[in-house]
Amino acid sequence: MGTLKPTEQQKGYGASLINYKLIVGFCSLLWCCFIWACSNTIPFQTLDASTFYKGLKPVAENELSIQYFGIGSVLISYNGKAVFTDPCFSTPSLQEVAFGKVTTDTALINLLNPPLQEVELTLIGHAHYDHLLDLPYLASQFLPAEGKIVGCQTAEHLMTPVSLPQQFVVANQLKGDYHNRGTWIFNRDSTLRVMVFTGHHPPQIARIIKFGMGKIKQPLDEIPEKANKWKEGETYTFLVDFLHSENQEIDKRVFIQTSSGKPPRGMVPVDILTEKAIDVAIVPANVHRTFAAINWLKADHYVIVHWENFFRHKLLKTKPFSQRSINKINAKLTELNLEEQVSIPLPGEFLVF
Ligand SMILES: [Zn+2]
Repeated sequence: MGTLKPTEQQKGYGASLINYKLIVGFCSLLWCCFIWACSNTIPFQTLDASTFYKGLKPVAENELSIQYFGIGSVLISYNGKAVFTDPCFSTPSLQEVAFGKVTTDTALINLLNPPLQEVELTLIGHAHYDHLLDLPYLASQFLPAEGKIVGCQTAEHLMTPVSLPQQFVVANQLKGDYHNRGTWIFNRDSTLRVMVFTGHHPPQIARIIKFGMGKIKQPLDEIPEKANKWKEGETYTFLVDFLHSENQEIDKRVFIQTSSGKPPRGMVPVDILTEKAIDVAIVPANVHRTFAAINWLKADHYVIVHWENFFRHKLLKTKPFSQRSINKINAKLTELNLEEQVSIPLPGEFLVF
């Protein structure tokens, strides 16, 4: 008995049906993406910086202030000197990151008008777009030209097309690790210094796949528009000392980590900490690694950053990437009696120590 074969006409109908299903499926997907994109976007006319800045207050002499801008971006100020980290205010949506372009939201930055006029050191934790994207605009419009930028060679290569007004200090040969000290990098008048340490960047996707992995080995001709072209380069943590202007002693010591590497990676040699304890440690949110870092650093205070869903527009209500993780972190803070020492600020929030 012969096998039944579709006629030419039946084949045609079948193919049309498959094409039709594909088109409907594709259109539905596009529509979902459009709805999702719209839900993450607010029209410029409704932008209001007061929804972002919460709790701004004047700072007294010898007070250390920390303002969180989102992701790894933090402004740390003390007696008229400031350090700024991971310059990224823009919030490209997940669709833009995955399939489109990532570009600086200059309207948003102008509206927020970040108070960066005292910044003497800008520190780049690594070169992914969400830690570096807005540096060209901020460096030309907001950061003082006399300041220095400290980051890896990949970050410097990414910035080559824009000729930054500030000096870029490449830290690849200056860094230390949790066993060895690095070389201090000073601001112009040696009242502020930073030491760079080898950090670690965990895989972002399912704890296995690393997005934007690798280095950029040559200076670029153009700033990349695709998110995955912003290669990680080297990931760093930083130890910052605000020095007394007369006797050069350490007034305030701040540790900064903006990617949650597993300690001891990214940590500071213990002998440095025995000289002077850390006043405030800025660490990223992670149920296990945050507490491992707290255990190593033994700082007086901690500020937990990089916890929010940064694909949402900055002026929309902030939501965590994982409410479950935040609940677990809060439960552990209670269990360890650390609530008084640890803050999890909203983007825009201002803390004084
Ligand atoms: Zn990254």
